[in-house]
Amino acid sequence: MATQTKDYYGVLGVKKTASADDIRKAFRKLARKYHPDVNPGDKKAEEKFKEISEANDVLSDEKKRKIYDQVGFYSDNIDPAAAEAYAKGGGQPGASGFGSGASRSGAHEQGVPFDFGGFDFSGFQGSGRSGSESEGFGSSFRDVFTGMFNGGRQARGPQPGTDVEYKVEIDFWTAVRGGVTRLEIQRQEQCPTCKGRAVVGGSMECPECHGSGHVTQMGGRMKFNIQCPRCTGSGKVQNACPTCDGAGVLTRREPLEFRIKAGTRDGQRIRLAGKGNAGTEGAPAGDLYLIIAVGPHKLFKRVGDDIHVTVPVTVMEAALGAKIEVPTIDGVGTQIGQSQLKIPPGTQTGQKLRMREKGVTSATREGLRGDQIVEVKIVVPKVQDERSKEILRELQKLNSEDPRAEMLAGA
Ligand SMILES: [Zn+2]
Ligand SMILES: [Zn+2]
Repeated sequence: MATQTKDYYGVLGVKKTASADDIRKAFRKLARKYHPDVNPGDKKAEEKFKEISEANDVLSDEKKRKIYDQVGFYSDNIDPAAAEAYAKGGGQPGASGFGSGASRSGAHEQGVPFDFGGFDFSGFQGSGRSGSESEGFGSSFRDVFTGMFNGGRQARGPQPGTDVEYKVEIDFWTAVRGGVTRLEIQRQEQCPTCKGRAVVGGSMECPECHGSGHVTQMGGRMKFNIQCPRCTGSGKVQNACPTCDGAGVLTRREPLEFRIKAGTRDGQRIRLAGKGNAGTEGAPAGDLYLIIAVGPHKLFKRVGDDIHVTVPVTVMEAALGAKIEVPTIDGVGTQIGQSQLKIPPGTQTGQKLRMREKGVTSATREGLRGDQIVEVKIVVPKVQDERSKEILRELQKLNSEDPRAEMLAGA
């Protein structure tokens, strides 16, 4: 696009005489206010942040700032010496070292895309001589201005497609045992009408520049012809594709079916190469990322490849030891399985017992399984009959140690 003059000093709210330190401070203050991290989703703040960043980029760099001060805008293509010469030459209104008609025709012969009409460049090089001298002017100007605008062209060209990310919720059992999941995704596909070229039909005269390939642009005190941004100087344009409105791609919803591997974990990313948004003009498509969110289970809690489960145990089982049946994930479908677990005598509540290789099949390490960790929760019998109460009283007499003795002794 065309370079436009911007008031960088105004953007940062500093004077033209501001020191490097003033500029740095002004930028920091504004950056804190408009930084995208502080204003998530705020488009206006984002634009403002871009503006102050651009102003700071130029004004905080001594060389760039000098060029900006001299010609009223900045481009990496401006030669500092040429900018200096231009600044010196530009300050003498009224003199006419350059006949505008002559300069125009001379410029065209040499391929200069600018019109210097109305500007005075008499101080640029020596003046008043004829013939060969004016040719000398022409080439100097061409060097200055061609350099200024070469960086401005932005032909669109092929653009690679962007990545697409989807969160996929799967249930506990699908994650544990694997399965097929379906979802509908929205992605950009190459437009079938224009094959991603964004335009259709034959070319016609550019309405912006009427086929000339350049338009007039004001740049501070200068007025010159620049390359037409609409047709990038070709003078011709093509109709935007009516199917995709000139985007080259179409947004489509489509069903997607994919396999979930047994042992898939919560938060896991699955990459489907080339299934993201389509590129334009033959550029490659992006990738599709599926972020897996695994649902909970009412009994089993999954930690990596291990399964945690809390199992109630009676006082008698815990005290005497027992062989009990506990639930496992080794069932069929959404059914739970069961497996025998030995409770050692004297087991306390909260104690954890490990059942080796009763956890989840690893999705990444072939042939490995996690463990099942059983947390014992002792349940006290609701004693109602006299006989049971009698036995418990007797038990208390036989086991009179105070479980709080140590605790109270320490206090
Ligand atoms: Zn199209
Ligand atoms: Zn044009």
